[in-house]
Amino acid sequence: MVALGELEPVDAAIHSDTGYESKLTYEFAERWTGWLTSHGVRVVTVKGSSGTLGELFHTTVAGNRFLRIPAFYEKDGASVIMARQCTTNWKLVPVRRWIAANRNKQPVEQWIGISLDEIERTRRADVKYITNRFPLIEKRMTRNACMLWLERYGIEVPPKSACIFCPYHNKAGWVKTKGVPDDWRRAVEVDEHIRDFDPPLKTYLTSYLKPLTELDLSTPEEKGQMNFFDCSGTCWL
Ligand code: SF4
Repeated sequence: MVALGELEPVDAAIHSDTGYESKLTYEFAERWTGWLTSHGVRVVTVKGSSGTLGELFHTTVAGNRFLRIPAFYEKDGASVIMARQCTTNWKLVPVRRWIAANRNKQPVEQWIGISLDEIERTRRADVKYITNRFPLIEKRMTRNACMLWLERYGIEVPPKSACIFCPYHNKAGWVKTKGVPDDWRRAVEVDEHIRDFDPPLKTYLTSYLKPLTELDLSTPEEKGQMNFFDCSGTCWL
């Protein structure tokens, strides 16, 4: 919208790269970053994650080791999810660090592209020098409205952004990941890496408490059942 003049110019569009987006997302960014730049939008990529898998996924606080991602483990026969530190470490902190280094002691208006469907995620900034603004909420645009807007201007709809190993994936998400062999290989690598981070605890990327490679990701049709109605593809979960 900034590129096409529907919103005022911005100083920079910040892309917070966890290093584990889908290959499709990186390909999308490669196709469209140049277009944004040629339309006067400066694109900045910040990263919070680098180093070995151990450095990326583990942290030690007061002598205790923690996993940064909301992985699952078994307790009293139930699946329990761990606390999440990844969004802060890999996304929020790198963005804040860039703003702090580039604001020249000026107040900052930070735009966040949350759509109307996720209005509950809107927040005030936790520092005085930043005011958060939510342009898509102001325009009452849902995710679907955003896609229609992009299509109207002949702009490619981006793939949904998330880490390829994100434990919040439902089965449909894992099916998608598996459909991109490079993504699946990297997700399986993370899954295997976290399994024994704190023995004898076993940790997994899914609440099924199974290795990714043992998940049954087949659809009802693949299992030989008939598809009686055509739904969005997630109701079989
Ligand atoms: S997409 Fe998932 S794993 Fe990645 S930062 Fe967000 S919550 Fe964490």
